[in-house]
Amino acid sequence: MTRPIEIHYKQALRGFVATGEEAGLEMAYEIGRIALASGMSLSEVGELHYTAHNSILADAPDSVPRQRTEQFFLEISTVYDMALRGHRETIELLRVEIEERRKVEAELRETAAELERERDRLELRVRERTHALMMQAEKLQQSNQELKRRNQELDEFAYIASHDLKEPLRAISNHASFLLEDSGDRLDPDSRHRLARLMKLSERITALIGALFRYSSLGRIQPPVGPVDLSEVLADIEADEADMLQLRNASITIQMPLPSVIGDRALLRVLFQNLISNGTKYNEAADKRIEIGRAPAEEAGQPDGFVTLYVRDNGIGIAPEFHEEVFRIFKRLNSEKTYGEGTGAGLSFVKKIVEYLGGRIWIDSRPRHGATFYVTLPNADVATGLTSDKV
Ligand code: ADP
Repeated sequence: MTRPIEIHYKQALRGFVATGEEAGLEMAYEIGRIALASGMSLSEVGELHYTAHNSILADAPDSVPRQRTEQFFLEISTVYDMALRGHRETIELLRVEIEERRKVEAELRETAAELERERDRLELRVRERTHALMMQAEKLQQSNQELKRRNQELDEFAYIASHDLKEPLRAISNHASFLLEDSGDRLDPDSRHRLARLMKLSERITALIGALFRYSSLGRIQPPVGPVDLSEVLADIEADEADMLQLRNASITIQMPLPSVIGDRALLRVLFQNLISNGTKYNEAADKRIEIGRAPAEEAGQPDGFVTLYVRDNGIGIAPEFHEEVFRIFKRLNSEKTYGEGTGAGLSFVKKIVEYLGGRIWIDSRPRHGATFYVTLPNADVATGLTSDKV
C-alpha cells in the first residue's frame, strides 16, 4: 500500500523536475520538515526519494534531469543537516556546561573541605584557649585565696603584735615616770630631759601601735552598713571639734544639705574627722578654712549610684607626686616640729574605710594652693538596689 507521504513526495518531485521552480524547492523543504518531525531517518527519506525518482524515471525515462532530483533531495537533507548541527551545538553547550558545573562542584567540595579543616583548627584553638583560661582562672583563684589568707594572717599578726607590744611599752613608760618622780631631784637636767623624752617616745609608739590596731581591725571586723545622713555626721563632728577648731583658728563651712550614703556611722565619722583635722593641721593660713560639700557628678566622673563629696582646705597643699603616697601607712611628708605630731596612719585608714564602703578617694592639690580630697561613696538616696552586703 502506498503511504500518503510517498504520493506527496512523488508529486512534489515530479513538479520540480518538470519546472525547476523555486516553489518546488520550498515544497521539498516542507517535506523534509514533516519527515523529520514525524521521526523519519534520513536514510528512510533517501529510500522515499529513490522510489519516487525511479517511478518518475519509469514514466518518462528521458525527461528527468538528474541534477534536479538531486537538488530536490539536497533541499530535504538541509533540514536534517540543520537539525544535526543544532543537536551538535546543543551537545557541545551541554558538555561545556557539565564541565563548568563539575569544576564548580569540585571547587565547592574543596571550599567545604577547607572550611571543615578551618573549623577543626578553630575548635582546637578554642579548646586550647579555654583550657588555658580555665587554668589561669584556677591559678588566680588560688592566689586570691592565698592573698586572702596572708592578709588575714597579717591582720591577726598586727592585732596580736599591738596587744603584746603595748604591755612592755607601758612598763617602760611607767619605769621612766617612777624614776623621774622618785629620783628626779638626784638627776642632772640632761638625764631628766632624756627620761622625759623616753616617756614621750613610748607614748608615740603606743599611738602608732593603736593606729596599726585600728587599721588592721577593719580587715577582721567588718561592721554592717546602712543609710547614713552625712549632714548629721558632719554637724556632729563640727560640734565635737569646736575646741580644736577654735584653738587652730579654723572654721568649717558645710554646703548643706549633704546626701545620705550607705556606710557605717562610726567609720564615716573617722573618715571626715581625719580629713578635717589634716586640713587644719597642715595649714599655715592665719584664717584656716575647711569647706565640705557635694561635688557635681560631671566634675567627679563618679559611677552610677555613687555620690562624690569634697573636703577642701586652704593649707600648705600636697605636691602631685605624693598624691598616692600619702595614703600609705605611716607615710608623713612634713616635719613633726612644724605641724605637730601624727602617726602617718590617718589617711591610710581613711582610704581603707572608703574602699571598704566600695568607694574611691583621690586628691586635687598643689603646694601652697590648698588641698581638695574627693571621696566617692554609694548614694543611699538612689541606691535602691544596693544592700548592705553589696557595698
Ligand atoms: P598624719 O597626719 O598622722 O601625719 P596622715 O596619714 O593623716 O598622717 O597624713 C599623711 C601625710 O600627708 C601627713 O603627714 C601630711 O604630710 C600629708 N597631708 C595629709 N593631709 C594633708 C592636707 N590636707 N594638706 C597637706 N598635707 C596633708
